[in-house]
Amino acid sequence: MIRNRLNMTALAFAHTLALTSSSAVLAEIATPEAGAATANAPDPKSENKADAEAKPSEAAVNVASEKGTCLETLEGTVRANHKGRLAPFCDRIQRLPVCQSTEGRPIHHADSSSVDSRGKRILVLGLIHGDEPLAGEMALEWAERLNKISHRNFWRVVPMLNPDGLKRKTRMNARGVDLNRNFPTKDWLEEAHGFWKKVGKQDPRRYPGEAAASEAETKCIIAQIRDFKPDFIVSVHTPYKVLDFDGPRMSFPRYKDLPWRALGNFPGSLGRFMWRDFQVPVLTVELGNTMIDAAQLQDIVGSFAIEASRRSGQKTAAVYEKVSANDPEH
Ligand SMILES: [Zn+2]
Repeated sequence: MIRNRLNMTALAFAHTLALTSSSAVLAEIATPEAGAATANAPDPKSENKADAEAKPSEAAVNVASEKGTCLETLEGTVRANHKGRLAPFCDRIQRLPVCQSTEGRPIHHADSSSVDSRGKRILVLGLIHGDEPLAGEMALEWAERLNKISHRNFWRVVPMLNPDGLKRKTRMNARGVDLNRNFPTKDWLEEAHGFWKKVGKQDPRRYPGEAAASEAETKCIIAQIRDFKPDFIVSVHTPYKVLDFDGPRMSFPRYKDLPWRALGNFPGSLGRFMWRDFQVPVLTVELGNTMIDAAQLQDIVGSFAIEASRRSGQKTAAVYEKVSANDPEH
């Protein structure tokens, strides 16, 4: 009996140790004690940002009546036995006024505040391509988890940017535009169409649109960037099974389910737009055709975002004011 009890204690101790060591290195979970132990002089810039986040966004729409539409719009992103993921998200949605698809479907987001005012601001974008439903589900899984744990960073999750494409099962939006070639990069006017014709062989799946930021969904993402002022952006895709980073030189933490590999960025792509033009790092998560260990990846991304933001420099609000749909020259 006593021996059993001792074994139980030893097991509990080992478990605590395992939790402690993983939270020190990886976990997005932060205890208030851990925050206090590392508290230095407050960084006035990040405090200002935290204040901005604490207030409800003035630009947000009253979405009380949109829960049903939210459930309907997100339905196609999750596998049959994971439908329970939808309601908790749709219970706490917000929406920016411009966040509507070409065909008028709402594009919702949910925020999760940090226990640490020095946390970084991480914007998660799911399903920029409509035929990659698992990307939406992974973003929803992250949003669900953020609601259950206390965490170090401020997160905004937009699980589905291309609802019309999801409905049609197409990569492109309802107007046949690849949103990930439609961002107003500095080189868009000069390069986007030429690149699409020569390198892309006019593949309709990669059509960059008539003009930079011509699409409703691209304008929504730009509005999200201006509103949330992210230090770090995660864009979730399928099916290449890699982690692809546009950002400062970093050593990459090992993650069992996906290797790190550079896929490059393109005229009008999000990575080129936010990293090359604005020095906000962008991590592209390319899932395969099956779900990965999303919780572990989220913890790794939380730590990675903190280090990447530190290396790419603190951004002032003025930087985000320049991120605009109307000025491809910045
Ligand atoms: Zn994609």
